[in-house]
Amino acid sequence: MLADIEQAAARIAGRVTHTPLIRSRALSDRTGRPVHLKLENCQPIGAFKLRGAMNAILSLGEAERKRGLVTASTGNHGRAVAYAARALGISATVCMSSLVPANKVEAIRALGAKIRIVGASQDEAQAEVETLVRNLGLTPIPPFDNVEVVAGQGTIGLEIAADLPDLETVLVPLSGGGLAAGIAVAVKALRARVRIIGVSMERGAAMHAALAAGNPVPIREEETLADSLGGGIGLENSVTFPLCRDLLDDVLLLTEAEIAAGIRHAAEAEGEIVEGAGAVGIAAILAGKVVLSGPTVVIVSGGNIDPKKHHAIVAGAAA
Ligand SMILES: *Cc1c(COP(=O)(O)O)cnc(C)c1O
Repeated sequence: MLADIEQAAARIAGRVTHTPLIRSRALSDRTGRPVHLKLENCQPIGAFKLRGAMNAILSLGEAERKRGLVTASTGNHGRAVAYAARALGISATVCMSSLVPANKVEAIRALGAKIRIVGASQDEAQAEVETLVRNLGLTPIPPFDNVEVVAGQGTIGLEIAADLPDLETVLVPLSGGGLAAGIAVAVKALRARVRIIGVSMERGAAMHAALAAGNPVPIREEETLADSLGGGIGLENSVTFPLCRDLLDDVLLLTEAEIAAGIRHAAEAEGEIVEGAGAVGIAAILAGKVVLSGPTVVIVSGGNIDPKKHHAIVAGAAA
């Protein structure tokens, strides 16, 4: 599997950014350990998802590319598929429900994707993806439960192991587990003793519930500041659940107030605009929920947050 990640790195080189790893003076002073931030908010779409989507799309055969791509994500994965498809001259369709806000629809349209509005729920949008795959032969690009997607996200692990050879702990935002699984595979293959800790929100932590139950379980989706961490892991999950079960050393859960504090710290002490999902590693340190043993990398996974919401949180609005 390390070989898959090394191949992914070669495949996506030049199309995806080797993001900066910067030392946080504020968090290092606070913890007494060197803490570094891996700034995936610096990717061209503002989040790491470009790595997995680009690797998955570049791994397709000519016929699969020609038929066009399809996804139902209106979040960072949808943006990544739309961006990569445009860069590679492939058509992409994003299915979404009528409830998706106009600014999100326009952001995806601006990346050149075709938009298909169907129904009034994410489930109906996903059902439309399956219909288009069946009837038109479009090629689906899954958001996390896919070997090429996980390998693409794992290229972050190669970069942090190379840039900080003595790292001991990695804090990774955790939702469907593509990011955490990819990083864990890469880093543990290169540095067997590094601890990989997943961080989710208390409100609707699907992988945490699955790990506790021993298999994927349905969860109730709840509104959260870490909106990019919402959603299930798929009851038929076959790739990320077993990898997270076998490779994660721990999973921490955060309150909404703790996540807000992470977003605020990122803006005020680090000068970075970070969305809720991207701030959970910082938030876990601020909340004292993780004991650091040595050099630590915090994966700052994305920065796509509504500017008005960001402003309100930094100004101290209650979560
Ligand atoms: C998708 C996403 C995550 C979670 O990634 P998974 O692979 O689903 O665990 C974390 N942060 C941001 C910003 C994301 O877009």
